Amino acid sequence: MGRSSKDKRDIYYRLAKEGGWRARSAFKLLQLDQRFQLFQGVRRAVDLCAAPGSWSQVLSRHLRGSEGSPAQVVAVDLQAMAPLPGVLQIQGDITKASTAQEIQRHFEGHPADLVVCDGAPDVTGLHDLDEYIQAQLLLAALNITTHVLKKGGTFVAKIFRGKDVTLLYSQLRLFFPDVTCAKPRSSRNSSIEAFVVCRGYSPPEGFVPTMDNPLLDPDAGLALSQLSGPSRVIVPFVACGDLSAYDPDRTYPLQLDPARPYTYVPPPAPPIAPPLCPGLSAAPGGGPGTPAGGGGGGAGAAGPRRGD
Ligand code: SAM
Repeated sequence: MGRSSKDKRDIYYRLAKEGGWRARSAFKLLQLDQRFQLFQGVRRAVDLCAAPGSWSQVLSRHLRGSEGSPAQVVAVDLQAMAPLPGVLQIQGDITKASTAQEIQRHFEGHPADLVVCDGAPDVTGLHDLDEYIQAQLLLAALNITTHVLKKGGTFVAKIFRGKDVTLLYSQLRLFFPDVTCAKPRSSRNSSIEAFVVCRGYSPPEGFVPTMDNPLLDPDAGLALSQLSGPSRVIVPFVACGDLSAYDPDRTYPLQLDPARPYTYVPPPAPPIAPPLCPGLSAAPGGGPGTPAGGGGGGAGAAGPRRGD
């Protein structure tokens, strides 16, 4: 297979390389912002599960900060990630208290206006299991968010729209009065992936954030214990991004513009440590990295995955 064949098969992979984005997922956040104006007035943002870093790139390019001071962006991932200007990186686990504390330290005690999470575990191919693990990761993201997000703030996270998704919606609605499920144009129709956009953070009265997994333990959590009675929640499902934009499930010819001949663009983010090449060291010039296993979606990563 030629190196340009993926350019043909995956239009957003190709556009990501041409735009200097580390992963095609950059377009998902851009399209979510088009629909929800997520970035308006944001001075502090947290990117959970950030590697290889295309969402952090979007945040650092699009957040304006306030007069005189640029926006602050903190990126967290288990994997190492090559540096990005204006982004503080924490190599850590979003389920750990120490990670929450490190974010708080960086913001000098100020809460964030926006927390985004494009987290994905390694998919197994067993759909029920993948959906369960994705749900646990989303709850872990929500949990750390309760430590760092300001009241009224916004939380955006990847979700798999499986058969039990309404339970997750109910859990999110305990913390946010406004929850919408959105499918960006660049997210494949064939994928179960979507994104919840949760606005107006407002935890239940008496809720005390703790990293002892209260949201994952139905007996321990004050928040979840409030889920009694008829708690089924129906949230709006919207498409976002310009619907006349490229269709990620289509194959396009290499020459998109008759006036501009096709030229191959290499990925801007070669993997720091590709899983199948353990001997390979950092990319030349400290080049950007990609997650070793769970990353997916990287402009330099292999084929499509369930959550792509
Ligand atoms: N949004 C990223 C971008 O645009 O470049 C892509 C994120 S990738 C799809 C998912 C990431 O989730 C992987 O890099 C993986 O290491 C990370 N991840 C999974 N579980 C995590 C955890 N418990 N803590 C921190 N990161 C985690």
